[in-house]
Amino acid sequence: MKKLAAGNWKMNGSLEVLAELAKLEIRHKESTVDVLICPPAIYIQPALSLFSSISIGAQDCHMYQSGAYTGNISAEMLADLGVNSVLVGHSERRIDHTETDSMVLQKALAAQTAGIKPIICIGETLNQRESGQTLNVIEKQMNGSLHKDLTSYPFVIAYEPVWAIGTGHVPSSQQIAEVHNFCRNYLEHNFHEIAANTPLLYGGSVKGSNAKKIFAIPNVDGALVGAASLKVDDFSSIIEALEKS
Ligand code: PEP
Repeated sequence: MKKLAAGNWKMNGSLEVLAELAKLEIRHKESTVDVLICPPAIYIQPALSLFSSISIGAQDCHMYQSGAYTGNISAEMLADLGVNSVLVGHSERRIDHTETDSMVLQKALAAQTAGIKPIICIGETLNQRESGQTLNVIEKQMNGSLHKDLTSYPFVIAYEPVWAIGTGHVPSSQQIAEVHNFCRNYLEHNFHEIAANTPLLYGGSVKGSNAKKIFAIPNVDGALVGAASLKVDDFSSIIEALEKS
């Protein structure tokens, strides 16, 4: 399985940042890992014209193909542009847009139908971790947002503890390992042979300074990176750590 360094710009960045990030194309020209940048939707088209070896993804898609859904973008439209991956169920979407596990599953299936790889995000809140609910929450999210219909096409899982996103607080290696092992076992038990080919990303305050340690954890196949993916040197050092892992 190829490892993946994915950047989620959220509602950040600009054409200038995009042009600066194009330096990654030269630095990681012959990369052994996949690199993906998910800019805000309005920057997808310029990003596609600027990048060739780095893939461009979206941060969300609608669950339906078309219709009266003002402000939304369908997976078909993303595919039409040449987008190859889409984040679904990021905690900011789950919390700010009250997205449920079943909506996340519908979006993931819509993406696959359009030929786009969904990156399904899961993760517990601080309250849930502190009350010992982490693995129950992860299992519930996987039960609700994964389905056997998904398994005919590639997909990715990103474990992002909500309390680690944008906070600088990273779980211990043991805590990350526990969840990633649980996810791999869940996939093996429920979806058998696809388990070995489904990348499990860790996300939440990944930086150049902690990437090596995170990528040494068993069953971590890459990262979903927020803030650090907007800066060439920061994202480049994360990609380099993944290449060396
Ligand atoms: C994210 O937005 O998915 C994320 C992990 O953000 P950060 O790396 O900034 O914590």
